[in-house]
Amino acid sequence: MALRSYKFRIRPNRAQSTALAAMLRDFCGLYNACLQQRIEAYRRRGISLRYVHQASELKTVRMVEPDLARWSFSALQQVLRRVDQTYAAFFKRKRGFPRFRASARYHAATFRVGDGLTIKKDRRIGIVGVTGGIKVVWHRNLPEDAELGSAILTRQNGQWFVVFSIEAAFAETCGTGSVGIDLGLNSLIATSDGETIQAPRFARKAQAAQRRRQRALARCKRGSTRRLKAKHRLAVGSAKIADQRRDFAHKLSRSLVTRYGAIAFEDLNLTGLKRGMLARSVHDAAWSQLVQFVQYKAASAGAEVALVDPRGTSQTCPECGMIKAKALSEREHRCECGAVLDRDVAAAVVVHLKAFGPGTGLRTITGRVAA
Ligand SMILES: [Zn+2]
Repeated sequence: MALRSYKFRIRPNRAQSTALAAMLRDFCGLYNACLQQRIEAYRRRGISLRYVHQASELKTVRMVEPDLARWSFSALQQVLRRVDQTYAAFFKRKRGFPRFRASARYHAATFRVGDGLTIKKDRRIGIVGVTGGIKVVWHRNLPEDAELGSAILTRQNGQWFVVFSIEAAFAETCGTGSVGIDLGLNSLIATSDGETIQAPRFARKAQAAQRRRQRALARCKRGSTRRLKAKHRLAVGSAKIADQRRDFAHKLSRSLVTRYGAIAFEDLNLTGLKRGMLARSVHDAAWSQLVQFVQYKAASAGAEVALVDPRGTSQTCPECGMIKAKALSEREHRCECGAVLDRDVAAAVVVHLKAFGPGTGLRTITGRVAA
């Protein structure tokens, strides 16, 4: 059984989103109160409060705070857990001392599915304290045998989402045969089968728009309403770009795992960024996300993923193994042995050879089976 997150947009009506915002505000208040109590208990009496101490008081707190009594008991417990987790992270020295949170920066609540948050018969979700069912954009189905554990409700740039943690077997199948993949110079990826895939055009367009918004923000006066608005537009833009990129990576990784049973990539962790180029960082972010998605999809489908040392992949002839330095401007790989290939495809073939060796049924661009 594997654990995965499924994220869905939810569309609360006006009254519901007001209620959700009030809920997060109350949760934030509780979070800060718990933090305060811990700090004071330690300062005055030298006592380190733990989750169990605070949880045992929760019932009483709810009786005297009608605002808190509106919400699900287990969701309030989760707020206490969150305080506990930030403390634990601090003592492990992974994070700084827990800080009080401004309610404008408190955006998430955790629920147990079937307790504070339920999926109703009409496929809307119900949240204790919020009137009526909340519309969900079910853009994909939950797995048949899904075991719903927890759900996180979040607010991101004024939009609401629910993220389910799901435990399921995720029985998926992979294809057969193997492939090597190169992070292309001009294309996003090239495969050893001769395929080149461009980074989607919308991504480049969106980047340009994003730079415009960045400049607009820089021109705004500090503390002005205009600046706040510009900042919001920038945040919405980044979120959209990230969404599109994630969506593209999901589709591409799915198609690779569906077609192949063994997939080789260059391990960019070995040499850092491959080639010093403008906009490389954007490309690299897309690349590492793709590799990550292929890895987990392959794991649940029983496919193999190999990472090879990228050094020399772009300079080696895939046919005869000769080292042949190429200028960045050279689009083709031409070798004395007669091999003529797209340079990115040639690199992909080398990646494939490095990972799976010769004689693994690899085809060159000419369709000939290599020895
Ligand atoms: Zn050659």
